[in-house]
Amino acid sequence: MKLKYVCLIIVILSTFSVKAQLLQNKGKFTHQDTLRGSITPERAWWDLTYYFLDLKIFESKKYISGVNTIKYKVLKPHQVIQIDLQKPMQIISVSQDGKKLRVKREGNAHFVTLKKTQIIDEINTLSVVFEGKPKEAKRAPWDGGFSWKKDQNGKHFIATSCQGLGASVWWPNKDHMYDEVDSMHIRITAPKDLIPVSNGRLVHIQDHPKANIYTWFVNNPINNYGVNVNIGDYVNFSEVFKGEKGDLDMDYWVLKDNLELAKAHFKDAPKMMKAFEHWFGPYPFYEDSFKLVEVPYLGMEHQSSVTYGNQYKQGYLGRDLSGTGWGLKFDFIIIHEAGHEWFANNITNKDIADMWIHEGFTSYSENLFLDYYYGKEASADYVIGTRANIQNDKPLIGTYNVNNEGSSDMYYKGANMLHTLRQLIEDDEKWRQILRGLNSEFYHQTVTTKQIEDYLSEHSGIDLTAFFNQYLRTTKIPTLEYEIKAGELKYRWTDIVEGFDMPIQIDIDGKSEWLFPKAEWQTKNIKSDSFNIDRDFYVNSNKI
Ligand SMILES: [Zn+2]
Repeated sequence: MKLKYVCLIIVILSTFSVKAQLLQNKGKFTHQDTLRGSITPERAWWDLTYYFLDLKIFESKKYISGVNTIKYKVLKPHQVIQIDLQKPMQIISVSQDGKKLRVKREGNAHFVTLKKTQIIDEINTLSVVFEGKPKEAKRAPWDGGFSWKKDQNGKHFIATSCQGLGASVWWPNKDHMYDEVDSMHIRITAPKDLIPVSNGRLVHIQDHPKANIYTWFVNNPINNYGVNVNIGDYVNFSEVFKGEKGDLDMDYWVLKDNLELAKAHFKDAPKMMKAFEHWFGPYPFYEDSFKLVEVPYLGMEHQSSVTYGNQYKQGYLGRDLSGTGWGLKFDFIIIHEAGHEWFANNITNKDIADMWIHEGFTSYSENLFLDYYYGKEASADYVIGTRANIQNDKPLIGTYNVNNEGSSDMYYKGANMLHTLRQLIEDDEKWRQILRGLNSEFYHQTVTTKQIEDYLSEHSGIDLTAFFNQYLRTTKIPTLEYEIKAGELKYRWTDIVEGFDMPIQIDIDGKSEWLFPKAEWQTKNIKSDSFNIDRDFYVNSNKI
């Protein structure tokens, strides 16, 4: 009877909190958030196949203009198409087969009425002419937009970044993560004394007396925020990495004055490639090469042109995020941002609410890099050290369909959740094959959390439903509550979701063994008056 009342109260409380959350969210998100963050009817009917982004830069006016030619396949007939471009950028005109089309602007979404009848399976083309003074990034890459900076010689040093905010902050496109373009050209017209560097490979340099016109080609699916333009007084050096899929071109574009510094410092790049191919499988974009491109901000995981601004320092701008010393054994930006080539660029979240898939696995990759070169203890020290950064303020998963990210705990709580999972699997080779398996199963795809959860449950042989509900969907850390009295250990889990019964390893009576706590109290005979929980498990304990 008593239990029933408790359950009823919990049901009432949780219904109340779900409702309160919904009400809170209702006020928090706008119609614009829905247009930006959901698969609207004007997006759902077509599949993006190709972009040709032709961009001109007017650096002295901080102004850009261009044309994006969009190819798409008709999935079902519809006559209105949604194209996104954020204020204060302007769409000048949209045309199809030479005919100008009517455009209705609703904030950042543009609804274009098509004249030509859209027939299933046909590939159609849309030309979008645009211009404007794009939002200037004040704290790149955190806020996003254009960075209009100067290098130490007073030359223009320009870069874009737009994670979260969206690529439509500077160019018109289908700005939702679920649909990646299959391939893309980016042509940039920049001042004659500067070099424009973008994603993929440089395929054409156009002769022009007053401008540098460079065309880059990306031969793989790419997410919108991964597309970037960088313009600077660059020099280039390169090397060939003998990788799992053969020869991989690794190219480095750095400011002229930093060439010698970069040649020494970027030795971490092939080291990174070796370690990550071991753990995650082949680099996912051999056709497009791998590049590091120096930028005037910290860095970003731009696909096949990872941007770099860590000032040629070890750690995170010279700091160790783990507080253990191990974080100074590598350049954080080279390792972390390149780790995203597997988790963010290869495996991409469909909805940004599931961004933990990008940041959780990539933060976890930092300790796998250490594991490869310094061993398991070093890697454990590092990932456990990063727990100090966890806030437990909000769940890792955000709100779906409104372009909303979850807590910044997606980084180090995400990494510690995966480190805990490695312990449960108890077989490092199996764990490595699972990480590689994720990258081949979801090769060049956009995914949901559910797909990742299901894959991990199936291939580990453990039902991880409650495990992920606990760590991804609540802020509660499982707490082992226990009491030791008269040679008996009494223990149970508290602060857990329904069905959570994760086993943990403990050191007890001079040996290591598994303990299987549940929500209900259990007992076990114990000789000593204390025991230790293996530090690799991200849990709390409470002696009562
Ligand atoms: Zn990241």
